[in-house]
Parts: sequence; C-alpha cells; structure tokens
Amino acid sequence: MGLFDKKTCALCGASVGLLGGMLGENLADGAYMCGDCRKKCIPDNTLDFKALTVDAAKALIAVAEANKKKGASEFHTTRQFTAGMYADMPALDVDENHGWFMNAAAKDGWVYELDDIYSFCLDVTTTPLTEGEEYNVNLHPYPQLPACPSGQKVIDAKLKLWLLDNELGVDMLEISLLPAFAPSEEHVQSAYACAQDFYSFMKSWRMAQKQRSGR
Ligand SMILES: [Zn+2]
Repeated sequence: MGLFDKKTCALCGASVGLLGGMLGENLADGAYMCGDCRKKCIPDNTLDFKALTVDAAKALIAVAEANKKKGASEFHTTRQFTAGMYADMPALDVDENHGWFMNAAAKDGWVYELDDIYSFCLDVTTTPLTEGEEYNVNLHPYPQLPACPSGQKVIDAKLKLWLLDNELGVDMLEISLLPAFAPSEEHVQSAYACAQDFYSFMKSWRMAQKQRSGR
C-alpha cells in the first residue's frame, strides 16, 4: 500500500485519503474507520480499536447514538453542579426524575445513570507556597474533602466518578473543577463548595435509592 492510496471508511463509506490515518482508527482485519465515525463511538478512551471488527464497531455506534438521542430528547436538568467564580466551570447536569446525569464539563451529550456511580472522590493536587506567599482558602467547612496541608496551595481539583458496568463502557469520569492555569483562592473555594454539594447530593440520592429498592 502506497502512502497516497485512498482509504475508505468501512462504516460510512467516506473516503478518508492521506490524512485519514491521523484522524480515524484502524480496525481489525485491515478495515478502517473515519474520524467522524470515531466521534460517534462510545467515549471510552481505553477502547482497543485495532481489536474491533466492523460489526462490533457498528454495534458500539448504535448503542452510543441511541444513548445520545435519549439525552437530547428526554434529559431535563433538575440540578446543576458548577464551580468557578461565575459558575463558569460546569461539572454535572442531573436529571433526578430519570436518575441520569451528564458530564457538563465535557458537553458531550452522553447520558449516564446516577445509580452506576459506585464510588467518587475529589482528587486534589497541592504545591508548596513560594516564600512570603499568602494563602487564605478556608477549607474548614469541608471536613469530608481532602485537606490542603499548611504551607501548600491547591493547584488542581478533579471530581472522579467510578461507574459500574454500563452501556457506554465507561468506567471512570474525571471532571476538572479548577481552571488549568493558576487557579485563584476564590476558584479553589468554589471548587470545594461544588464538590461538597455533589457529595451531599449523592448521600441523599443513595438514601432515597435504598428506600426505592426496599433495602
Ligand atoms: Zn465513517
């Protein structure tokens, strides 16, 4: 096969040309999937495309498209979790009536089940303060959340959600609650408030869940 050989997507038939290899995926049996079809696939980035047959890839896309369609037509947000000084770091949108949530940070439209969250935590990264640097974030209201050791400041805070086996095949979501560059004290404060909100929500959601299932 020469460098300029034309390739065709085995799923949609689109011609993918020279740059296709960088934008799409090679599947099993030498088949090829274009970048557009790749985007329609489930959001699991640990998926081994090279082991996928064309039929398996089609099945994955069908599940993922049905999931997204369900989100677009039936998902109605009843509760939002946001961080940021002006609520500019959306984290999660929740539809309590259906028991669903979306990753609002990713804005990807996939719908997950709240009951599939079996574990979650706020994952915090800290770094030492520079000499003379003051840091006045008050984390006392959040005893459940990770503390910031004295002489350190928080530079990253991610909400991590671990999911039970689900139709999308996603086992973990990581949602950033802080801007990537130099988060301010206010940002950290609001990230903790958002995480605390989510912890409290999940606690009451699980209590109600137990009652619903009669356990
Ligand atoms: Zn395609």
